[in-house]
Amino acid sequence: MKKIFPLLACFLLVAITTANARPIKALIVTGQNNHNWQVSHIVIEKILENSGLFEVDCAITPPKGGNMAEFKPDFDKYQVVILDYNGDSWSDETNSKFMDYVKKGGGIVVYHAADNAFSGWDEFNKVIALGGWENRNEKSGPYLYVKDGKIVLDESPGVGGSHGAQHEYIMNAFDKKHPIMKGLPTHWKHAQDELYDRMRGPANIKSLLYTAYSSPEKNGSGREEPLIFTVDFGKARIFHTMLGHAGATVEDSPAMQCTGFQVTLLRGAEWAATGKVTQKVPADFPTATTVSMRKDYKQP
Ligand code: ZN
Repeated sequence: MKKIFPLLACFLLVAITTANARPIKALIVTGQNNHNWQVSHIVIEKILENSGLFEVDCAITPPKGGNMAEFKPDFDKYQVVILDYNGDSWSDETNSKFMDYVKKGGGIVVYHAADNAFSGWDEFNKVIALGGWENRNEKSGPYLYVKDGKIVLDESPGVGGSHGAQHEYIMNAFDKKHPIMKGLPTHWKHAQDELYDRMRGPANIKSLLYTAYSSPEKNGSGREEPLIFTVDFGKARIFHTMLGHAGATVEDSPAMQCTGFQVTLLRGAEWAATGKVTQKVPADFPTATTVSMRKDYKQP
């Protein structure tokens, strides 16, 4: 079977449905992950394309141990690059093209385990601001969490990155003024997901948008953890969401079927691409007490 690298037209390229004359060009980077990337990248593509705002391509790397010299996406063709990748290093050429794209003011979405990737690549760690696993520790930078309404940077030694049992949890707004946040509730209940905790890194968060309390009862940190934020890195617009653990199938991925995950992803991706958010908050957005899920990923 012939494989086409680096670009594969994805699954639903035709689903541009609204009157938006010029959809935002988005690239999903995937192909290796300790997660089910075969599910997650299709789901992200569905979410983006069902909104009618985006036209999506996927850049799929060779599998683990493959020839990474073949992986040469043209980042510059896109207004936003969504990272769904946690695997082998890219080639030096691709690394430098990616960083050029970022530094020229590119749009980036860091999704879930993409913040596990490339722990030894200093500039990449500044793109994600906080990361986990892959031998991260106090040398990676401080922990960052919220205590008594203030951001705390904590240099104490220890591992970077962990999570307790999956569960439903409440998202708490921090910076309500950011365009991504306009009209979103102060508190909403997220569907069953991992809650990343004890992440560490350069901690160059620009706007901390949502946190959640990582309960020791669920084997969490006992801290109010940063889960959705933007990153301060030159001219780039970077949106980082730690939510959205992929399930076994597209139809069984509750964290990604959560309306709150989908809406924040869409708003973050539009902002990363354009600096604005034109989307209205939909009526099916979760409340502080009730989870809301789009099992078929259809948007009202
Ligand atoms: Zn996960």
